[in-house]
Amino acid sequence: MNYRNRSASWVILFLVVAVHLYQQAGPSWVWAALVLQFLVYPHLVYWRARLARDPLQSEIGNMLLDSFCFGIWSAGMGFPLWIAFIFFVSVSINLAAFEGGKGVAKVTAAHALGMAVALPFAGLRFLPDSSLAVAFLSMFCLLTYLVMYGISTHRRTLKLHQVREKLRENEIALQSQLFEIRLLQSQLKEQVDRDHLTGLYNRRYLAATIDRELARCLRDGSPLSAMMADIDHFKQINDTHGHQFGDKVLVAVAATLSDSLRAGDIACRYGGEEFLLLLPNMPLDTAKARAEEIRHTVGALSLEVDGRPFSVQISVGLAEAPRDANDADTLVRRADAALYRAKAAGRNRVEISA
Ligand code: GH3
Ligand code: MG
Ligand code: MG
Repeated sequence: MNYRNRSASWVILFLVVAVHLYQQAGPSWVWAALVLQFLVYPHLVYWRARLARDPLQSEIGNMLLDSFCFGIWSAGMGFPLWIAFIFFVSVSINLAAFEGGKGVAKVTAAHALGMAVALPFAGLRFLPDSSLAVAFLSMFCLLTYLVMYGISTHRRTLKLHQVREKLRENEIALQSQLFEIRLLQSQLKEQVDRDHLTGLYNRRYLAATIDRELARCLRDGSPLSAMMADIDHFKQINDTHGHQFGDKVLVAVAATLSDSLRAGDIACRYGGEEFLLLLPNMPLDTAKARAEEIRHTVGALSLEVDGRPFSVQISVGLAEAPRDANDADTLVRRADAALYRAKAAGRNRVEISA
């Protein structure tokens, strides 16, 4: 930020002091010092800062050195008001921007030190007057410096704004990616737990849930009914009308089961054409009534094959915990045994565990 501004300012400062010295008829060694200080020195210290390991810190050191040198020049020339003023203002603004009030304090100290160093050589003289030309040049110098300073501040603000915008855009993109990942995660979890054909829970999910459901019901002293449903003569349906139609029947029966669920009930595809419903807080007689309802609904499904209506039946076996079992395996086995009896008794019926 500083190099261009500094170089330009030093050139204008050179002009201001040169005019003043010319009008005061300063000695020739001062002219040499002037050229060294205002035209050579700025570039030397710039390169020192650039090559430094910590350029910012080095640049702050440069500003303090500027202030020290300006102190010498001010005191050496007898504090010409305009020149002394622009010297102090320029270094103060610089360091105030970098280090705030602390910077101004440091700059003031460096400036005072420069004056103190010059006084033994130059003596304490007070020659505040300078020509109108010097006054104008000083004003021009200060104005140029402040305007350049304002412009570079404006540029930095713009840049900061752009960086902030970019950051915000990135954050929004990141948020939406995170949302997508979460969505995919939950979809993946659903897929892992679901049977892809019917959309019911799969056996893996049942295995992970049944113990917990049973434990909860036993703890609450409420019944848990298990309903095992199996499509009658499904092999024949497949053999007669094809696997695809068999799949349609599976989906239709699964949908009927799904429709019958209360909140908290769990329906899963237990095997090929077997379904298991877990009905927490439901006693066996209610479960039986529910099973009959489902059996009727399945029987009344309006399926069609080769343009002709087709009806499908299910057999159902029921068991209840804690009446028939105190553990998940036994409960399922009991429901399965009841289903077997339903099949043996002629199918299309509901049996409860004996
Ligand atoms: P039952 O009345 O005694 O239950 O006789 P069933 O024919 O229904 O029983 P079985 O166990 O003999 O036949 C079940 C059939 O289900 C055999 C198998 O090919 C079929 N099956 C299993 N999974 C699927 C599936 O995802 N789609 C289709 N279309 N058929 C399946
Ligand atoms: Mg069957
Ligand atoms: Mg079966």
